[in-house]
Amino acid sequence: MYLSNACKKAIESLEKAGFEAYAVGGCVRDSILGKIPTDYDITTSALPDETKAVFKNEHVIETGIKHGTVTVLIEHQPLEITTFRIDKNYSDNRHPEKVEFTRSLKDDLARRDFTINALAYSDKTGIIDEFGGISDLEHGIIRAVGETDLRFNEDALRIMRALRFASVLGFEIEEKTAESIHKNRELLKNISIERFSSELIKLLCGKGAEKILLEFSDVLFVLVPELSVLKDFNQLHFRHDKTAFEHTAAVIKNTPPKPVLRLAALFHDIAKPRCLNIDENGIGHYYGHAPIGAFIAKDILTRLKLDNETKSAVEELVRLHENRFPAEPKAIKRLLGKIGAERYFDLLELMRADDLGKKAEHFPGEEFYENYRRIAKEIIKKSECFSLSDLAVNGKDLISAGIPPSPKMGEILQSLLEAVIDETVPNEKAALLDFVKKLP
Ligand code: ATP
Ligand code: MG
Repeated sequence: MYLSNACKKAIESLEKAGFEAYAVGGCVRDSILGKIPTDYDITTSALPDETKAVFKNEHVIETGIKHGTVTVLIEHQPLEITTFRIDKNYSDNRHPEKVEFTRSLKDDLARRDFTINALAYSDKTGIIDEFGGISDLEHGIIRAVGETDLRFNEDALRIMRALRFASVLGFEIEEKTAESIHKNRELLKNISIERFSSELIKLLCGKGAEKILLEFSDVLFVLVPELSVLKDFNQLHFRHDKTAFEHTAAVIKNTPPKPVLRLAALFHDIAKPRCLNIDENGIGHYYGHAPIGAFIAKDILTRLKLDNETKSAVEELVRLHENRFPAEPKAIKRLLGKIGAERYFDLLELMRADDLGKKAEHFPGEEFYENYRRIAKEIIKKSECFSLSDLAVNGKDLISAGIPPSPKMGEILQSLLEAVIDETVPNEKAALLDFVKKLP
């Protein structure tokens, strides 16, 4: 079991003062899985004032004193130390109205969400496993502690946490727990949208995202109902052997686990059903689904309260995902100038994932995308000009050269950029100024 020195020290100090203390939850779970924990939670029989007294010589922050939590800084590491507690009277499917402190570790473990998160450990006692968490970790199972319906009713965020852990760890959700999640999914409407979004993003970036999305699409549709039109939607196209939702889940799996990419994959075809046109041969066409999808995605992401940067990245990726462009430096420079290098490489990932999500015989091969990457990398490496800021002249230079300041300045610079990319004029100050004088 790997525990940081700071965590061990804190547990020892509490034990020396006569209390029980254990590392608990995520850090124990992750350590057993062979990962180095990023944050440590400690659970103790000491009451908050007693904990504060034990650490009177350390920096103590009263983070959640009402719920029995103080944060202690040891060797610059923040440790959340919480008194054993029982959560009482959940009235809003999210927050306990009251917590009751207890001296029993078992009671404290019983309030935790899943068996794999209800493990405690100290060097003195070894692992304490009251609910079969070790076996579930070994078998890759997410199982609610206690009575499933009751636990999801107490706190509906646990529904998303279950899906997230299953996706991130590549685990199965145990049958009764899964049944209860489906049954209680509407309770998600009572949780804060920010908490939902942050769990959704972790879920999307997990290695089991495809499987979990397919199994629990009904849960996803509670807060993102716009996606439900993809379910069972037959794409009526020879390149596709999956329904639109199955294809979407596959595209998610095929992208690198980066939030903007996985979100773009989730929404890339959201407008397909509304754009459907069937031709005389019975083949489905979806003109305009990319820009319309981008519009819908932006709307949803606004509702999910995601930050502006994520929103515009996803919007742009969805909007451009159907834009096939030639693998030629000029076209690539234009795109690089419009969307920047990072977005360009992300767009290629999305296109590749999209193609991989179709019938295998239509995949153009890895070299196809690699070629696009190679050309762009070369352009960047050689610092070739592809954006206004790369031009050898700027607005000030034009004014100094006698061009009167006007709203047309932007247009002039844009024409210069086009000319440089087209190689009609070299990216040199004198040549550019000369070129400007010839413009109508
Ligand atoms: P991670 O930190 O990787 O997101 P974690 O399991 O550590 O996962 P935290 O939110 O840090 O999650 O919570 C620490 C522990 O507190 C959990 O392992 C679990 O025992 C308990 N816990 C957290 N949220 C809930 C909840 N909504 N219901 C019940 N127990 C919870
Ligand atoms: Mg944690």
